[in-house]
Amino acid sequence: MSFQIAIDGPAGAGKSTIARAVAARLQYVYVDTGAMYRAMGLYMDDRGIDASKREKVEEAAAGVHISISYQAGEQQVFLNGENVTGRVRTEKAGMLASAVSVHPGVRKKLVQLQQELGRSQNVVMDGRDIGTAVLPKAQLKIFLTASVKTRARRRFLELQQKGQSADLREIEKDIEQRDYQDTHRAASPLTQAEDAVRLDSSDLTIEEVTEKILELCRERNFI
Ligand code: C5P
Repeated sequence: MSFQIAIDGPAGAGKSTIARAVAARLQYVYVDTGAMYRAMGLYMDDRGIDASKREKVEEAAAGVHISISYQAGEQQVFLNGENVTGRVRTEKAGMLASAVSVHPGVRKKLVQLQQELGRSQNVVMDGRDIGTAVLPKAQLKIFLTASVKTRARRRFLELQQKGQSADLREIEKDIEQRDYQDTHRAASPLTQAEDAVRLDSSDLTIEEVTEKILELCRERNFI
């Protein structure tokens, strides 16, 4: 039996940083599902397909092959054989991901891939619908959130560190828009699973949140 930890929450709550840290401590595999939606968004954009058009997107999605592998423990995302790990980490790819992720045909395809990954190994998986749809039987579910201001500031610093130009107000607006889209879509909207533990990371450090999650693992006798 594999152990599954699901971490869901809005954009910029710190899911990927925390999920990566928890996975490293437990020696579980970290699966970043957002990167898969981002790759799908880029595919549509590369071909000039309007991400909001369900029929066109679903038709094109049938020919998309997304896979992941690990290099030195870091997830690499492949889009029809091309490594797009670097390309997916932009604000634009995030917006495209949010737009294509509303389409049920896209979700079905990626959820299937995610479920396969969770079946065969111990995973920490982060996303929007992991506890509710992808891994409903996960032994631990976390709903990680933080205020819009905190999340925007974190994203801003992250982009700055990477040398990418960023505008705090713009990022705040993007986050609000993505929150709205992610919580209002018909297919698997972002919601807290009934059995998820809610953690607000606004006033906590990465180490404090990681430690809280490890404590929950200890309570459940994972470690
Ligand atoms: O987490 P990340 O910012 O990389 O996700 C990008 C977008 O992909 C989200 O805003 C959301 O619309 C979509 N997504 C999703 N379901 C997931 C992961 C991401 O709908 N499990």
